[in-house]
Amino acid sequence: MYDENNIFAKILRGEIPCNKIYEDQFVLAFKDINPQTKIHALVIPKGAYVDLDDFSKKAKNEEIEALVRAIGKVADILGIVESGFRCLTNKGHNGGQEVPHLHFHIFAGEKLGRMINR
Ligand code: 5GP
Repeated sequence: MYDENNIFAKILRGEIPCNKIYEDQFVLAFKDINPQTKIHALVIPKGAYVDLDDFSKKAKNEEIEALVRAIGKVADILGIVESGFRCLTNKGHNGGQEVPHLHFHIFAGEKLGRMINR
């Protein structure tokens, strides 16, 4: 069940500001408020999807295409294609998801550590 009051829904409605990087009909990308790396961006669909599982099952092809292409556009805008980046999404409790609106993190700007630290 999608929570219309989650923080990213509020950003999409313009109720809370964000540091915008990119926007189109289906996607919004903005800087993470608490960056974990020198560059930390978030790419989200404008549609109401809780997580990647929800998106993969319910989103229209044009929404899926737009989100994937937006990740490439954001990487271009941030100038991180050559140096490299990490893109990930968390899903649910075990995934460590805190905000229940699908978002892809883009981490960049420095050499990233191991993919999983226990
Ligand atoms: P999750 O743990 O759900 O994968 O990641 C949620 C991310 O959203 C975190 O990296 C957190 O810093 C970011 N975040 C939470 N609230 C806000 C906000 O109000 N604005 C922005 N720009 N990022 C937020």
